[in-house]
Amino acid sequence: MEINVISFDIDGTLVEQKFNDIIWEYEIPMQVAESKGWALEEAKNYCKDEYRKLGDKDLRWYDIEYWLKRFGIKTPAIDILRKWEKSIKVYPDVFPTLKRLAEDGLRLIVITCMPRIFLKEKIYKFDSFFERVFSTISDFKKVKAPEVYRHIAQEILAEPASILHVGDHPVLDYEFSRQAGYKSLLIERNGKTRPESIQNLEEIFPCL
Ligand SMILES: [Mg+2]
Repeated sequence: MEINVISFDIDGTLVEQKFNDIIWEYEIPMQVAESKGWALEEAKNYCKDEYRKLGDKDLRWYDIEYWLKRFGIKTPAIDILRKWEKSIKVYPDVFPTLKRLAEDGLRLIVITCMPRIFLKEKIYKFDSFFERVFSTISDFKKVKAPEVYRHIAQEILAEPASILHVGDHPVLDYEFSRQAGYKSLLIERNGKTRPESIQNLEEIFPCL
């Protein structure tokens, strides 16, 4: 079946992962260190342990408000995110690729796990290309799963086989979208470990 919808993951696919790492691995530990009077290294280890104990299968793991509350941090989430806004880096192939896909008449959507609070600063520069932006956590209270992909296909009135999902997570993006009947591409920005993967977005075009 012909592909007429392209679906994109955000982190590691359109935008560098770095922003998230700064928030979770530096800024939040720094706030913890300040509020508890600890050394930064101590706070970093503490946060890492707490993140790991909860685990990414638990939806609260993705929820910055939950962590701020749990760690007793008073700074509002939005201030923390805005403070690091400038460190958000869009990959250089994003604009040219989205532009060309849109000109070719393809429908473009986003499917991300990230809660909406993380999204605005990340994608406002290019969100006009997207017909819909789905945050699985905010919209479905779930991380990416086959049934979430199926539900989204229904919601945008598209056959799963007519949707190509591009993302950097081998299971949440590549496998689960396939299980829902989508076509999918794994993007490995930092070097291919599988022959079927792509390394930049321009490699989408030969697959259409
Ligand atoms: Mg990703």
